[in-house]
Amino acid sequence: MKCNKRLKCLFFAVASFILFTGCTMEDIAKKNGKDNGVTTKIFAMNTVMNMTIYGESIESAKKILAEAEQEIYQLEALFSATMKNSDISYINENAGKSPVKVSEQTITMIEKAKEIQKLTNGAFDITVSPVVKAWGFTTRNFRVPKKEEITKLISYINSDWITINKEEQTVFLEKPGMAIDLGGIAKGYTADYLSNWFEQKGVASGILSLGGNVIGIGLHNGNKWGVALQDPLNENASVGILKIGNQSVVTSGGYQRNFEKDGKIYHHIINPKTGYPAEEGLISVTIISSDGTKADGLSTALFVMGIEQAVDFWRQSNDFEAIFITEDRRVLATEGIADDFQFTGESQGYQYSTIFKK
Ligand code: ADP
Ligand code: MG
Repeated sequence: MKCNKRLKCLFFAVASFILFTGCTMEDIAKKNGKDNGVTTKIFAMNTVMNMTIYGESIESAKKILAEAEQEIYQLEALFSATMKNSDISYINENAGKSPVKVSEQTITMIEKAKEIQKLTNGAFDITVSPVVKAWGFTTRNFRVPKKEEITKLISYINSDWITINKEEQTVFLEKPGMAIDLGGIAKGYTADYLSNWFEQKGVASGILSLGGNVIGIGLHNGNKWGVALQDPLNENASVGILKIGNQSVVTSGGYQRNFEKDGKIYHHIINPKTGYPAEEGLISVTIISSDGTKADGLSTALFVMGIEQAVDFWRQSNDFEAIFITEDRRVLATEGIADDFQFTGESQGYQYSTIFKK
């Protein structure tokens, strides 16, 4: 391409813009002048969230962002596994006892989670919750459970035992002791929900970063958005830049939430079959898809599967692309995303290659 160099520069300009989403609303507003871009940063769903949108005016964008913040808190109040009055707490308290009436959105999320469980042959399963709790990831009171405890708790894992009655709008966990945890898809769902919500409010351009979940809304001055892909081994570095349009980029990795006990690191992505943190040679999995909820579920699931199964799974699918980073420092991008990914990780000792469908 003739103007390659210039495009690259623009692209990095956009990318670096994303990296300073930590600025206050006023800073961004000043930097972008006539762009009418406004950024906000909040803490919700146990993570830091940055949202940048471009409105008709700075004032209208600020107003819309303030409303969006409330939308997030409302979703959190439904989906939280720790808030006492959430739909999820209510469902879990009544496991083995009775169906409970919940919001339509909770039903939609659980249905989607059940679909992903089937699709991934159980690598993703929201009924993994009793095990996640036993490791202390829900409350941050970390501990290494005894083998017998894990063996008992994995017997409660099976999404087939979640009964949904759509007419009555109820959810029932059939076995006492069962529990669900939407942590693996809640941010993806929230990102999808918000991007639709923003579009309804007339916002044609924006980028949201909800923890490890990034979603693009439209384009920025006609360019795709640049998203830096974090180096899992160095929080201040990235291994490349991805270009996205109206898409989600979701990363799951063991480096994000973990604790150390007797020299060993235990992270928060659990293999539902074993009850132990998944250790299949991957350090991060990034999914790129127009379905943010699915991307979130798949990033967790493919991390559990490990590289070989994950690549097979991708070869049989047609609605997402992926970038895998392995413990032995390989960065592997699936062919559908390779043109939109600029690898920069050589200096950190990473080796890059593309994975093909056939
Ligand atoms: P993060 O929430 O850090 O972005 P993930 O999207 O990978 O990371 O979700 C991990 C969360 O999902 C865990 O904190 C836990 O609540 C839950 N979880 C862990 N393992 C699984 C699994 N195999 N299937 C479904 N949910 C899981
Ligand atoms: Mg996930």
